Amino acid sequence: MSLRDPVKIEIARGHRIKKTVCRSCGATNPFKATKCRKCRSKNLRPKRTKGKAR
Ligand SMILES: [Zn+2]
Repeated sequence: MSLRDPVKIEIARGHRIKKTVCRSCGATNPFKATKCRKCRSKNLRPKRTKGKAR
């Protein structure tokens, strides 16, 4: 079963980009988050999807 709906792929891609990853513990946080929800560190980086365009 493969769903290759271009609209759904676009939505999924947008959701994947809207994430931040903690540099301390590696937890994923919401894009709006300024602090990590696990360790409360401010050391967050945006999750990038460059390199592999899926
Ligand atoms: Zn963390």
